[in-house]
Order: sequence, then C-alpha cells, then structure tokens
Amino acid sequence: MRIPFNKPYTTGKEFGYISEAIDAGHLSGDGQFTMRCQKWLEERTGCKKALLTHSCTAALEMAAILADIQPGDEVIMPSYTFVSTANAFVLRGGVPVFVDIRPDTLNMDEMKMNRAVSSRTKAIVPVHYAGVACEMDAIMDVASRHNLIVIEDAAQGVMSSYKGRPLGSFGHMAALSFHETKNVICGEGGALLINDERFMERAEIIREKGTNRAQVFRGQADKYTWLDIGSSFLPSDILAAFLWAQMEEAGGITKRRLEVWNWYHEEYQELEKKGFLKRPVTPGDCCHNAHMYYVMLSDAAKRPALLESLKRAGIGAIFHYVPLHSSPAGLKYGKAAGDLAVTRSASERVIRLPLWVGLDRASVHEVVSATGAFFLR
Ligand SMILES: *Cc1c(COP(=O)(O)O)cnc(C)c1O
Repeated sequence: MRIPFNKPYTTGKEFGYISEAIDAGHLSGDGQFTMRCQKWLEERTGCKKALLTHSCTAALEMAAILADIQPGDEVIMPSYTFVSTANAFVLRGGVPVFVDIRPDTLNMDEMKMNRAVSSRTKAIVPVHYAGVACEMDAIMDVASRHNLIVIEDAAQGVMSSYKGRPLGSFGHMAALSFHETKNVICGEGGALLINDERFMERAEIIREKGTNRAQVFRGQADKYTWLDIGSSFLPSDILAAFLWAQMEEAGGITKRRLEVWNWYHEEYQELEKKGFLKRPVTPGDCCHNAHMYYVMLSDAAKRPALLESLKRAGIGAIFHYVPLHSSPAGLKYGKAAGDLAVTRSASERVIRLPLWVGLDRASVHEVVSATGAFFLR
C-alpha cells in the first residue's frame, strides 16, 4: 500500500530505554520502567492504581476476575466492539448482553441500557469507540441504581476525556491498550486502571499468578505463597521501556494525530454535503484523541466497491467490527437486548481511513479525492 492504514510511530528513544532496562539487569516484569509507566498512568488519569499488562485483553480478563463474574452473570456491553470486550467475561462463564449503539458516536446507547438490566446483571462494559467518550454520567447512574460494576474498555481512549476528566477514570476499573494499532504503543501491551480501592490488593495477586509476590517484593509480607486464582499478566520491563518512550511523547503524538484528523474532517465536508457519507460526530462534552478517522457511507451497498477502488489506488482503507451478537460465538455465548438495528446498519457502512503520525496533508487530500472520484465517476 502506498498509503498504508497504519504505520507504527516510534519516537527514537525506544532503543535507548531498552538498553537502560538491560543494563539495569531487570528483564522480567515490574522493573523501573514498568513503575514509571504505571506512575504516569496514575498521575494522568487520577486512578488509585495502574498495572501494566500484556494487552488490553489481559486487563479485561483481570477485570472479569476482580468483578467476580460467575457462570450465568450478565454483562452489558455493545455488540459493535472488539471480541475481547466479550471474551474476557465469557471465559468466566459470564453472558454478554449486547445493547445497541447511538447512531452519532457509535457508542453504546445509554438510553437503551436500562431495558437490558435484569436480576442477573453484574457489570456494564462501555467501550469508548474511536476515543470518543460514552455518556459516562448516564452509565454510572444506571450502575449505581442497580449496584453494578463498571469496567471501561478504554482500549482506544488514551489521552481522551469526558467533561474534562480522562477516560478510564469513571468506572470501577478500566482497560487500556498499547497495541501497535493504538495511539501510544509497545507492540502488544495494556494496562488495568483501578479506581475503586476494594480491588487494589486482589488485582496485584491475580496479576502475579495468584501469589503475594508483589507484597513480598515491597517487604510487606515475608512468606511467598499461593493465595488466589491468577495468571501471569505482567509484561517484561523491556516492553515497558519501549512504552515509556511513547508515554513521554503522548502529548505530541495526540497533537499530530489530531492535525491529520482535522484535515480529513475539513476535506470530507464536501462529500457529506453532497449526501454520499456522514463524518464522525464528537459531542461537546468529549475531547478525543484522534484514534481513528472513519466515515459512514449513506449507501452500504457501495462499500465493497469503494474499498476495492481505494485499494487499487494504493490506499489502505478498511471496514470495522462485524457485530458480535450475530457472530457464531456471540450467538452461542451472548444474547441481544432488542434487535440492534443501529449496530447492524452502522457496521455495514463504516469505512476507516489511514491515520498515523507522519501522514501528510497531500496524502489525506489524495484519500479524500479518491473517495470523491468513486462517487462522482
Ligand atoms: C484494541 C482493542 C482491544 C484489545 O486490545 P489488545 O491490547 O490488542 O488486547 C479491546 N477492545 C477494544 C475496543 C479495542 O479497540
């Protein structure tokens, strides 16, 4: 692809920090760079505790254990999301209850959430699509009325905020991703943010194979022992060293992505006016991180031909989520709350466009021109 969909950005400091980690002689988890990254997350989001994990998927799996999801417990989430949002809970025997999305932000429709609550509901997992916040006030309100645990899937939400507060700071817990397709990256990586103190101690234990290793390490316990279920969820300090280089530059990365996002937004205005597509909507309360630029085609039937035509022009445009509620595993393990008409329609019309640090204005212009040429030919 001449203009690839994604091109992982590196700051140039990654190798230096990795050497430092090697020189420090601590290659396993929870070394100095892990501590630096976790402190950065705690300071940035105000969470009580941040724990680096292998992935956002791993952080969601930890959250499902911490929320004590038991077989048959229902977990409310959108169908328009990545598989890990659901899988993490299904692994504990939980039942995803899929709620429709809003037509403007493609986030879970908070107005349709109430109807999905039952006596078996244990948790809500809002997903901040494209780094644009869900209506967290409404979601937290439903959660507190029904005594539910909220776990934000903030995989795409690093550096975004809602009403001035960072994403990941609203729920009892939140999961972030540092996968190479996200904004701040280390190849594969993630973090669990904990805002509710009651989960702090157990989170450390679950992450360390069910042991009190972290406490022994800090001198808070003298016997290393097996206490609980768990797994190995902590990444090597070498990866944390890579990630630290990115965190240091997170402000600059966001600024440069926003610049590209704004070029698209300006250039696609014309095609929106002509009725061929709709541009993304960002509610006034949301400050986003330019994780993604997508457009919604007015005519879903045109999507395969448009993607093919962009591909022939060397442009890496792609579609996004296939709804989970109608997927083979979704039908087996989950259930739909209503007919999810907006999810079905939106998922057939979304096209995601190349967006990465270093993508220049001329390329953005070319992508938009190629889209226009398809419709106007
Ligand atoms: C990327 C993503 C994930 C998974 O992240 P990994 O770090 O690859 O496990 C989960 N949920 C959403 C919404 C995502 O975008």
